[in-house]
Amino acid sequence: MLKVQILKPAIAALSLAVAASGMAASSETSAPLAIVIHGGAGTILKENMTEVTEKAVRAKLTEATNAGYAVLENNGSAMDAVIAAIRILEDSPLFNAGRGAVYNYEGHHELDASLMDGADQNAGAVAGVQHIRNPISLARLVMDASPHVMLMGEGAEAFARSQDVPMVDNSIFNTERRYEALQKAKQKLEKEERLGKDYQAALDALPLHYRYGTVGAVALDASGNLAAGTSTGGMTAKRYGRIGDAPIIGAGTWADNASCAVSATGHGEYFIRFHVAADICARVKYQGKSAQQAADNVIHDVLMPAGGTGGVIVLDPSGNISMSFNTPGMYRASRSREQPVKTGIYKAD
Ligand code: ASP
Repeated sequence: MLKVQILKPAIAALSLAVAASGMAASSETSAPLAIVIHGGAGTILKENMTEVTEKAVRAKLTEATNAGYAVLENNGSAMDAVIAAIRILEDSPLFNAGRGAVYNYEGHHELDASLMDGADQNAGAVAGVQHIRNPISLARLVMDASPHVMLMGEGAEAFARSQDVPMVDNSIFNTERRYEALQKAKQKLEKEERLGKDYQAALDALPLHYRYGTVGAVALDASGNLAAGTSTGGMTAKRYGRIGDAPIIGAGTWADNASCAVSATGHGEYFIRFHVAADICARVKYQGKSAQQAADNVIHDVLMPAGGTGGVIVLDPSGNISMSFNTPGMYRASRSREQPVKTGIYKAD
């Protein structure tokens, strides 16, 4: 496939010099390298967090960031860095993705994930898969080994089997904490419905902690390529095959070397309606806004008035790190050539 790469002049010159000398680009070069990850946005307040959980979350965010950064330092691609970081978060019960995913109304887990490559805007996504341990890696296979961008449910799993991806039992994603959240959510939903609220209004009224924990990553590699990825279990008690923003290219995930890379977390219906990830990068591209300004505009000035809660992580082609959220907290971490790994949970972090 023809890949059109839009490289910053300095990086393009560097690539030429490297090619001329026959050496592989090394981490000694000055090309910017950066990775930013998130582990979900929501009502994450210090007074509700135990010291043990906070420590565990920060340790896992650090581990995932460092794993992604190690890929970049070894001249790996932004895409590989994003996947390395997300797989660690999918395997951790602390987050709402893979193991630790929320339950749907029927008591199962339906997982969504997507990826986008900023070099050529190639993308892959899966929605509503139930037997795939690392949905982000299946999204990669959809991108690389199928002629499609997005596969769902049983079809996605049939494709996975054709690619020799092992199937796992849905129960491997179970956690006590999320099961209790489902029981509480169902009680609340039934009560609201008895009071005459329709199902969607009742679901919308659930407190933010019934969904937080989605994971995502954006990265910039030594060749100047951006990539973004997002993975989630969606929203507790989701029903009727509901799919959120995470697997939708442009809503939950977007990457374009000419503007920025974004991974989102929050109330998916709003992120789909307002095309959040792509809108942020469009503001950078066509309005000349900085990534931080564009993210703040969309998260605070567009989503907030509409009632949409959540946040985003953003990287631009120069490696500038931006984060924006309109919730009390967002699990997040970043690392770049200039900045050692740094984690954040609360607004004040
Ligand atoms: N955006 C996810 C969804 O709506 C949930 C989240 O990020 O908290 O499925």
